[in-house]
Amino acid sequence: MSIVGLSAVDLLETMRSGDISAVDVTTAHLDVIAKREPEVHAFLHIDSDGALAQAEVVDRKRKAGGTLGSLAGIPVAIKDVICTVGQPTTCGSKMLENYRSPFDAYVIERLRAADAVLIGKTNLDEFAMGSSTENSAYQPTCNPWDLSKTPGGSSGGSAAAVAAEMVPLSLGTDTGGSIRQPAGFCGIVGMKPTYGRVSRYGLVAFASSLDQIGPMAHDTRDAALLLEAIAGHDRRDTTSIPQPVPSYSANLEEPLKDLKIGVPFQHFGEGLDSEVSDAVNASLDAYQQLGATVVEISLPYLSYSVAAYYLIAPSEASSNLARYDGVHYGHRAKDFDDLIDMYAASRGEGFGSEVKRRIMLGTYALSAGYYDAYYLKALKVRRLIRNDFDKAFEEVDIIASPVSPTPAFNLGEFANDPLAMYLADIFTLSGNLAGIPGMSIPAGFSSKGLPIGLQLQGPPLSEDKLLRGARMYERESDWKQKRPLLS
Ligand code: GLN
Repeated sequence: MSIVGLSAVDLLETMRSGDISAVDVTTAHLDVIAKREPEVHAFLHIDSDGALAQAEVVDRKRKAGGTLGSLAGIPVAIKDVICTVGQPTTCGSKMLENYRSPFDAYVIERLRAADAVLIGKTNLDEFAMGSSTENSAYQPTCNPWDLSKTPGGSSGGSAAAVAAEMVPLSLGTDTGGSIRQPAGFCGIVGMKPTYGRVSRYGLVAFASSLDQIGPMAHDTRDAALLLEAIAGHDRRDTTSIPQPVPSYSANLEEPLKDLKIGVPFQHFGEGLDSEVSDAVNASLDAYQQLGATVVEISLPYLSYSVAAYYLIAPSEASSNLARYDGVHYGHRAKDFDDLIDMYAASRGEGFGSEVKRRIMLGTYALSAGYYDAYYLKALKVRRLIRNDFDKAFEEVDIIASPVSPTPAFNLGEFANDPLAMYLADIFTLSGNLAGIPGMSIPAGFSSKGLPIGLQLQGPPLSEDKLLRGARMYERESDWKQKRPLLS
C-alpha cells in the first residue's frame, strides 16, 4: 500500500489497524527524502538512524500493548531554530554551525511525549529573517511545485518538506508570516497560533514579542492534531498562556453556524496579483454558498504594519543577537588583535548580510535620540493595529485576506531589493503585531500551476474556530488532493 502522501490522521489509523508499522512509515518517508532532497534542499540535517530507532521503539511499545502518544510513529520535520537534543540547531547560520543544544525545546519535549519520530531539521532564512530561505547560510530551498521558485520563508524548508511529501508534518515559526507565507507558496496548511499559546522555551529568539511556533501539514485535520500536541502552558516561557488547550480535533467537522467573515477590501488594491485576488474572491463565494456572510471591514492602520514591524522586529533582534559574541555563544574568529577586534571579527564572520542589516537597523532604532522617534512610535502604531482588530472582531468572527500579494516568486528575484521583499509581508505582519492567530489554507492555483493561499485570522485563542472555519472550506474544495509532480 502507498504510505507516502497520506495524512498523519490516516497514517495513525493504518498503523493502529496493524497494516503497517512505524518503521514502514519512517522508511517510506526516508526513501522519498533520499529521492527528492537533491532537488528540493529542504533539510539541513536528516537523522535517519535516530528516526528509525524512534520508530522501532513505537513498534515495540505497540506490540507490548503499551499506551502510545497521539503522534505515535509519525515523522515530523523541525525548523532548525528549535533546540533539539541529538541533532544540530544551526538557525541556518554559520554562527551556530557547530551548536548542539544540551536541552530540548518545550515543543520537542511534547513531540517526544507524543511518540513522534523526529526525522530531521529543516532549512530556513538565517535566524528566521527573510521570506524566501535564500538568507540561509547553507543553501536556498526550492519550491516543490516549480524548482525555480522560492518555497517562501523563513520556514521554507518545513513547508517544502511537507509539500514534497517527505514528511506529513513539520514545525515552523512565525514572527511576521514565516509559517503562513511558505504554507501559501507551497500549497499546504500552516497556522500561527495566538502569541503565548505555544511555549517559546528552546526556540532561538528572533523577535521575542512576535515569535510563535506552529504546525504545518497537508490539511486542517493534521494541523489540529499537531497543534494539540504542542500547545499548552509552560512556566519556562513567561508569556505562555495558562489556559487549558481544547481538543482542536474533536469538533473539527462541525461547521460554524452563522459565520461572519470580514474582508479588508481596501487593501486589495495596488500590488495585488489578479490571480491571487480571483482565488480569494472565489473562496469567499464558496463560503457564502456554505451559509457564511461576507462583509467589508476597515483596518485603517494595516498599511503601517510593514513600517512598524520592520522597526520592532530588528530592534528586538539586535538585542537578542548580542549574545553571539564568540564568548557566550557562537563562532569565534581565529585571527584578532584584541578583545574588541575578536567580537567584531567573530560577528563579522558568523552573521550573513541580512542579519547584519537587521542588527544595524535595530541598533539605530533603539539608540538614544532615535528611540522615541522610531522604536516607541512603532510600539504605539502596534497598539493601534491591535485596536483595529479588536474593533473588527466585535462584528465578525473571522477575517479573510490573501496571505501574500503574489504566488511564489523566482529564486533570486529580490536579491538586490530587500525592501521589496519586506513589502510583500503586508498581509501577515499585522497578525504578529496584534498577537492574534492566523492560518494559511490552500485556495487554488495560478495559471502557471503555483499554489495560492487564503489567510484566515481570528481573535486571541480562537484557534478552534479558525480550524473549524478552514475545515468547512477544505471539505468542499479539492486543492489539498493536488500534489507537486517532481522529476
Ligand atoms: N519575512 C519576515 C521577516 O523577514 C518574517 C519572518 C518570520 O516570520 N520569521 O522578518
